[in-house]
Amino acid sequence: MSRVIIGLSASPGVIVGKVHLLKWELPVVRHRIISDDEIQSELGRFESAVKQAIVRLEHIRTRAAHNAGEEEAAIFDVQLTILADAELLENVRNLIRQNLAAERAFDLVMVDWRQSFARHPHAMLRERVNDLVDVQIRVLSLLMGLDDHDPVDLPKGSNAILVTHDLTPSLTVQLDREAIIGIATDEGTRTSHVAILARSLGLPAVVGLRDATQRVIAGERAILDGSHGILIVDPSDERVAVYQERAVREEAEDAQLRSIASADAVTVDATRITIYTNVDLPEEADQAANSGAEGVGLMRTEFLIVGRASAPDEEEQYRAYSKVIKAFKGETVIIRTFDVGGDKLPIGGFPAEANPFLGWRAIRMCLDQPEFFKVQLRALLRAAVHGNVKIMFPLIVSLDEFRRAKLLLEESKIELTARGVEFNHNVPLGAMIETPAAAISLDSLADEVEFFSIGTNDLVQYTLAVDRGNANLVNRFTPLHPSILRLIKNSVDMANTAGVPIGVCGEMASQPLLAFVLIGLGVRQLSVSPRSVGLIKRVIRGIEESTAFEAANNALKAKTAAEAENILREALSRTFNDPNILTHGLPMDPEEAENLNS
Ligand code: PEP
Ligand code: MG
Repeated sequence: MSRVIIGLSASPGVIVGKVHLLKWELPVVRHRIISDDEIQSELGRFESAVKQAIVRLEHIRTRAAHNAGEEEAAIFDVQLTILADAELLENVRNLIRQNLAAERAFDLVMVDWRQSFARHPHAMLRERVNDLVDVQIRVLSLLMGLDDHDPVDLPKGSNAILVTHDLTPSLTVQLDREAIIGIATDEGTRTSHVAILARSLGLPAVVGLRDATQRVIAGERAILDGSHGILIVDPSDERVAVYQERAVREEAEDAQLRSIASADAVTVDATRITIYTNVDLPEEADQAANSGAEGVGLMRTEFLIVGRASAPDEEEQYRAYSKVIKAFKGETVIIRTFDVGGDKLPIGGFPAEANPFLGWRAIRMCLDQPEFFKVQLRALLRAAVHGNVKIMFPLIVSLDEFRRAKLLLEESKIELTARGVEFNHNVPLGAMIETPAAAISLDSLADEVEFFSIGTNDLVQYTLAVDRGNANLVNRFTPLHPSILRLIKNSVDMANTAGVPIGVCGEMASQPLLAFVLIGLGVRQLSVSPRSVGLIKRVIRGIEESTAFEAANNALKAKTAAEAENILREALSRTFNDPNILTHGLPMDPEEAENLNS
């Protein structure tokens, strides 16, 4: 029977495909005692499961190298090493000899290993926990006769919609884009990193579906509406026809927007806005350079270490940054240093934290590991000879942090000079404004920081105390809350007074209604996803700055986010009556969603 599952729009596009259900989770293992007579055969069963897992992993490694590259595929080497560990294997055999069934013996040993690795003082060993979990799932599935869900062998042209609880790094590197045409996850929100990655890959995606993995059957036909955040399973032929028509219409609209993308971003009353784009993967560089944007306002570098046990070395990073810089041929490219932690890539030596978003992430982790950080800084300084590069530090909350980062940059320069390597001596340094702390005290940073960029995804999260990745809180994640509008306004005013440029690179910039208020609040530089360049330019070219200014001032007086939204929508609808513009990227109205069920 047809089911409509409502989630959140993560990456636009409408597709019809087949559900590929991926359950990558630890199975529940029963305690099972075996008799003395069964010990030999149980030992044999264990050896054969380990052998099969090794064969399978070698195959997956080869496929991942093909899909994501040799460097990314190295993630599986670690897992192969675990399966060859003599001590681990002997521990399991000993438990089997003490009359435990193979799956129970293996499970107990793995739980024990995971616990001791998680507590290990060495970051490198703590990193192994994810690999241990992957190995545990794989071998247990073989011992218990469970299905192997790896998406690795999907034939090309499968038109698969990957439905899974959450996307992990090791799953991400397996994605074959010729087989998988869309992603649907139980977890996540528009600003969580699965969503950001899906947008970069240009794969339609819906996240925050809560229990989709419980409500779909593998192989079912489904419609994934990434633009509205809906998954429709087992739809009628009529409904498929409606959506196919919509897909064609959206494609035509996209083509129209692409033609506007290269136009100037100037309002009707001649205010010029600089439109940059966000780049998350070096492979996107050429596409982003042709998006119509005037440069890169945010290159996220943490995706370079996706699925890896450690960060790439200086040479590899140098090549990745140079690729993006060269693609933009002298245009501004703002590269942000690693922002690992929070919901981003749980690798890089993170002990489990009770409050990861308030924990050891971004600049904090980089400052505490100077040798790790300086590899990136040296690579950036070297790559910066190829264009107009600026370096930006994430999650700065105080001037001390900025100064320490700057000091490490100076040390990196000395190291490069000693090596006799060519680098750019004058790279401007900026800070992201992502916390109320930084926004309120922006003036204390302004003497030493050369530019600011407001990261609204985190600014909203930290101001409203709403986890940006929690689908249950999505209606509370309101960028139009009075506190956010005031913080942005104050930040812009303070930066202007100090004469330091300020832009916005969070998701707000890519959503028409929110870009409208940002312009009204005085923001003159927006960095948007490559696919939103045309849409945002269309909005800018249709409005007057004075109207946006007036609407923003009225919105600033609103007492609630809903009130502010009404004010802005009313003002923008005087120019645009297109619902695609007025509601683009905002969570779906529950009533509208309900209608889809009927
Ligand atoms: C932000 O927080 O708004 C931002 C741009 O950074 P990220 O989404 O990578 O945390
Ligand atoms: Mg951020």
